[in-house]
Amino acid sequence: MIVGLFGEDSHLTLALQSDLKEKGFDSCRSDQPLTQEQSQHLVFRKRQAPSDWKSLREAGMLLVWVGEPVESAVSFDLVLAPAQSEGEALEKLSRLVRRKLAGPPRPSWDEYFMRIAQVASMRSNCIKRKVGAVVVKDRRIVSTGYNGTPRGTRNCNEGGCPRCSGLADSGTRLDECLCSHAEENAITQAAYHGTSVKDGCLYSTFSPCLMCAKMIINSGIAEVVFNVGYPLNDSTFRLFEEAGITIREYRLKHP
Ligand SMILES: [Zn+2]
Ligand SMILES: [Zn+2]
Repeated sequence: MIVGLFGEDSHLTLALQSDLKEKGFDSCRSDQPLTQEQSQHLVFRKRQAPSDWKSLREAGMLLVWVGEPVESAVSFDLVLAPAQSEGEALEKLSRLVRRKLAGPPRPSWDEYFMRIAQVASMRSNCIKRKVGAVVVKDRRIVSTGYNGTPRGTRNCNEGGCPRCSGLADSGTRLDECLCSHAEENAITQAAYHGTSVKDGCLYSTFSPCLMCAKMIINSGIAEVVFNVGYPLNDSTFRLFEEAGITIREYRLKHP
């Protein structure tokens, strides 16, 4: 990361700069072009407030003003008045640096697995809805699946499924559909590799249909988490409930 120290030279600026140096930051003069390759961590010094602060921030710079607070168009991450104690200023800056280095908050387990299911859905070759699923045991992925025509047959998007190509209405002519569902494929993929899904948790980008629900129950999966609810799912939910399987919705915040 790059820390930009802006403002006139002062005792405080020098203290901040040498503290960052001790922490492994390299110094960089304001007349040098900024490149991330120079070092992982850089201190950038300039007396004037930066006019190109937006692009500097985009490049990952932390903008710090050292000096009396002034009316400025720049939105600094931190303003350090020279009057404040050196210890306090150092602590403020290192707290900010630590927070920035820690990065954004990590995704929860639900978000993590649902996002992976979402990526799996991108592999779908079905011209209808694209669905992805992952089966997880002890927070470890044991299988993944996405919907499409069976292994070794023509892909749905290459005309492999007459029902999908005929653009049938949702829920009609299902018996003619050659596309396997994502949940079905996640389970049969595990079988293909001789892996048990018993007591596992299945994450799916859509709530399962009745056929997949039956397969999920009999494969021994204990929990189902879905991102978006399928329109015709009342009997599916009832069946899961009767079979003692937990089913819950987990909506991704940024789909
Ligand atoms: Zn299809
Ligand atoms: Zn299904």
